[in-house]
Amino acid sequence: MARMILLGVGTAVPDVDRDHTHMVWDGPGGPLLIDTGGSTYQRLLRAGVDPQALRGVLLTHSHTDHINGLPALLFSMALGGRTEPLPIYGLEPTLTLVEGILGAFQLGEYATPISWKPVQAGEVIVLDRETAWVMRTALTDHPRPCLALRFEDAAGSTALTYSCDTAPSPEVRDLARGSDILIHEATTPEPFNGHTTPRQAGEIATQADVARLVLVHFSPRWTMPEEQARAEVRAGGFTGQAEVGQEYQVLELK
Ligand SMILES: [Zn+2]
Ligand SMILES: [Zn+2]
Repeated sequence: MARMILLGVGTAVPDVDRDHTHMVWDGPGGPLLIDTGGSTYQRLLRAGVDPQALRGVLLTHSHTDHINGLPALLFSMALGGRTEPLPIYGLEPTLTLVEGILGAFQLGEYATPISWKPVQAGEVIVLDRETAWVMRTALTDHPRPCLALRFEDAAGSTALTYSCDTAPSPEVRDLARGSDILIHEATTPEPFNGHTTPRQAGEIATQADVARLVLVHFSPRWTMPEEQARAEVRAGGFTGQAEVGQEYQVLELK
């Protein structure tokens, strides 16, 4: 089984039905949390994923809406009895900033120990030795250094890509090429520094020749109504399956 579960699908300003965008990869090698919204522990429970069983956390970048829940997650995990170190993956500047934040919380013994795992953009991380599933990475176009991710089987024939926060980017497009599913951000109604519009997401999905496009980091209030976003994706030339991501939506790879 390989699937991505969307835990939050909103922008940096949450809506009534949308928390900060974060998700959990549930596939070979165990569940990997991607970013930490404000109530991640509870959201994992609701999604049917045991928070104590996380094989690690990947922080895409250091903007507040992507890391704010980490101290609370580590606190809850420690109180819940986890003593096994939790690997935290991310770019060096992201990990440095997060280390400072955790220090300020002075969690002491009330935090699960951390095993820091610095990642270089472009690095390929083996998720599971037996099945040879990997996670590929690329740098996005964003004011803070940020990683896009591609989860791929041994043959490279089944893949899911997540853009994370980015302006339309050739690196993200190339990373996504031929993916079964592209989860792409669509934050702004008009082109904007470091972010993407629904139409631009449609253009990227078309160029990358993906089968299915799911918009996240999206708000019916701050971006545009959902129906308009789907029309904008079509206007960007995309003819595949297109939708606006919903909380707790499960994106399954065949
Ligand atoms: Zn950001
Ligand atoms: Zn963001």
